[in-house]
Amino acid sequence: MSEILSPNKYAGRIKPIRVVVVHTMEVDENDANVAEAVGNAFANPARQASAHVGVDTDSECRYVPDADTAWAAPGANADGLQIELAGRAGQTSGDWQDAASQAILERAAQRVAQWCQAYDIPIRHLSVAELKAGAKGIVGHYDVTLAYRQSSHTDPGASFPWDAFLARVAAIAGGSVVPASNPVAPAAPAAPAALDVDGYLGPKTISRWQQVMGTPVDGVISSPSSTLIRAVQNKLIACGIGVGRFGADGVMGADTIRALQKYLGTPVDGFISRPSTMIRALQGRLNEGRF
Ligand SMILES: [Zn+2]
Repeated sequence: MSEILSPNKYAGRIKPIRVVVVHTMEVDENDANVAEAVGNAFANPARQASAHVGVDTDSECRYVPDADTAWAAPGANADGLQIELAGRAGQTSGDWQDAASQAILERAAQRVAQWCQAYDIPIRHLSVAELKAGAKGIVGHYDVTLAYRQSSHTDPGASFPWDAFLARVAAIAGGSVVPASNPVAPAAPAAPAALDVDGYLGPKTISRWQQVMGTPVDGVISSPSSTLIRAVQNKLIACGIGVGRFGADGVMGADTIRALQKYLGTPVDGFISRPSTMIRALQGRLNEGRF
């Protein structure tokens, strides 16, 4: 294996490795020096692109260490391992059968098998939904394009021989291909979408506040007395901040607003202006899952 290291990468990873992304180089597959030529292109900082390895008919070339983040498939860079195959996305099924393609696919299968073993990645071609749900597996750049809509690339093409390729990966890795129809392990529940920190106390902010306080979630502060506001008042009282002479009465009056402003560290005037600095501070906290 040769090595032509690319500066186009982030050092390290912000997410654990979970997906192998297959690309085609969009070059002549019969050129035995093409993995190195692509390495030379990726070595140019102006190119702003890279992959972890490239394979051609006679060799594999390393561009970026696995432990670093290559710039190849926006949306699946942070948790992806990127392999470039000599050839083109426009190849037909017949084209993928020729001797050059078979040599390239064999080299790619060796690399992908090693990755699947090293990073505990099941030998499975993920659907776009599975990819988006955070499943572990193998995809093409096109799947990443469909999942995250951050590029227009369609490689390795509609005729890429997924079944034969995964079967070969499994044979090398000593495992088996996980059928595509297998139910995906449920992904961890997605974090709720962040609130806009806009200073308006609307239904979304109220719902999140209710969620964080553990009170029934309906997106409204009911009157004359709100369970949410009573919970908030009790919390403020517990923190030694008085909420007025009526105590925890569930009413968001001037005294309670003043107490909230004190608690949140914003100017204390007893009013919720629109937009409000105090509500912005509240939204920031709620986005961190706390009050
Ligand atoms: Zn690609």
